[in-house]
Amino acid sequence: MAEIVVQNICKEFGDFTAVQSSSFRIEDGEFFMLLGPSGCGKTTTLRMIAGLELPTSGAIYIDGEEVGQKPASQRDIAFVFQMFALYPHMNVRNNISYPLISQRMPRAQVREKVAEVARILGIESILDRPVGGLSGGDRQRVALGRAIVRNPKCFLMDEPLGALDAEFREHMSEELKKLHDRMGATTVYVTHDQLEAMQMGDKIVVMNHGIIEQFGRPQDIYDKPATRFVAEFIGSPPMNFLKFHGSLEIDATNVTLHHQTMTVPALREPFDGDMIYGVRPEHIRLSDTSGYRGEIIATEYLGTTQIVTLKTPNGDVKARIAAEQSARVGETVGLEFNGATVTLFDSQSGRAIL
Ligand code: ATP
Repeated sequence: MAEIVVQNICKEFGDFTAVQSSSFRIEDGEFFMLLGPSGCGKTTTLRMIAGLELPTSGAIYIDGEEVGQKPASQRDIAFVFQMFALYPHMNVRNNISYPLISQRMPRAQVREKVAEVARILGIESILDRPVGGLSGGDRQRVALGRAIVRNPKCFLMDEPLGALDAEFREHMSEELKKLHDRMGATTVYVTHDQLEAMQMGDKIVVMNHGIIEQFGRPQDIYDKPATRFVAEFIGSPPMNFLKFHGSLEIDATNVTLHHQTMTVPALREPFDGDMIYGVRPEHIRLSDTSGYRGEIIATEYLGTTQIVTLKTPNGDVKARIAAEQSARVGETVGLEFNGATVTLFDSQSGRAIL
């Protein structure tokens, strides 16, 4: 098990800064997600934790020891690049035992360790089969077995499920989570898939252009996005943003949206300027009594719910409502926002001001 502290790390490649002054703490035993769009610096951050890339500045501590400039071999961590990277000419047993044999562990001990890992992963019956003929799921388990057999302090995984189809991906993410709950090893996991991060992570770092936008528990990130970027990146469909051009009146708890006063939680501090009113689709109700009205321009049936797109005076808005509620394209209806759940953003900086 391991606690990892990342302190002000930067990574420059020539004059390009891939990671800027990032800091976060990963608690012992946590399943920790590095989330963000392509090119935001997740892999570079993971590679710096692994020791495969050295930070240009800043420090990395594993269990209190500063390892920032130490090579990977001195960090006692297992890097799972890609689950399918197995040795095709070897059988399952030899694939799993390979890391131990290269450490010159005595044969009897290797046998014992491999048997233990096979039991954890439920692959005892295929130990003597060549990996070539295995199903995708079994190959994935073998690759995991090879990573866990060394009993490392921590696992680092870079988009391990990226190459799988959606159904199998969901199955494997459940297995990975179960395995983590069973072993309790600190795991740092890179993904660009917000749903995967929300479902699997104890904590999430959301990155964009080499900068940490927010760091916290999935629920906090979803409910209280620190920036407009986070609000848009997390949640499907994403949060709605209603724009105002200087016509917003505000006191401690009210905003006026197109002549309609809405209650919002009190601001952290007074704010003067253009704002964006952020509301998640599931926090909008369609009601005849609301004076804030919109025309339904599309509906999308999703089984238990439906997504209704409405044209409002402040732009298009998506609402998630019950599937059985009547909503017809062309109808004009009232929209009611749950004021306790909205977020206001500074339209200039994109930062939340609530
Ligand atoms: P992806 O999911 O696409 O891999 P990422 O968030 O993991 O994205 P990184 O791989 O960390 O992003 O890359 C961040 C930025 O740093 C990218 O613009 C990438 O081109 C750049 N970069 C990464 N490694 C190098 C390198 N060795 N030399 C130069 N630029 C690099």
